Amino acid sequence: MIAEGLSYEDQLQNYQLAYQLLKRKLRTSYVSQLIKSISLPEIRDIHRSIHQGESPSSGLLPAIEAIPQVRESMLYISLFASLYRSASQIDIRAEMDVSAIIFAWDFFCETFPNHVRERRPYGKVRPANFSEAWVVAQALKIGLAAVHYCKSCHGDHIVIYNSKFSPTCQICVIDQLRKRGNTPGLR
Ligand SMILES: [Zn+2]
Repeated sequence: MIAEGLSYEDQLQNYQLAYQLLKRKLRTSYVSQLIKSISLPEIRDIHRSIHQGESPSSGLLPAIEAIPQVRESMLYISLFASLYRSASQIDIRAEMDVSAIIFAWDFFCETFPNHVRERRPYGKVRPANFSEAWVVAQALKIGLAAVHYCKSCHGDHIVIYNSKFSPTCQICVIDQLRKRGNTPGLR
């Protein structure tokens, strides 16, 4: 997305962007996909120098359909997606808006402090880390997920195609289950 053969100033801006992404612990392969002018070994070095020698995470990248394990997660992901869409001036179904992802993620973290799960994201508050937030934004761009308006609750809700939750408003489903007193459905 960012071409090579850059001016010194452009390269400094790329380092600034890499710093912003790595500070939030975006997986280095995503940083490398975005910023072509900095090598992957150097991106890993930047990660280690920001995080006191800690190596970047490796292994499988998060898959959008596997992020919500429990229905309540859909509520949090809907909120994140809605924040992201509101923060962006562009069509997020056509492009990823990196600064809007950063803004929405920081806002989300302020709203739910202490939820960040870097390596073992098993909580219900999702996205659990910045890489999952990135994957949500990516899914909205490539059509694996979409934000829809719900006529019943008048809010935005996310639909994640191929996830275990039906492409309807899960916020309303949670509400119906709660009214029925069917709390096990919430887990
Ligand atoms: Zn609804």
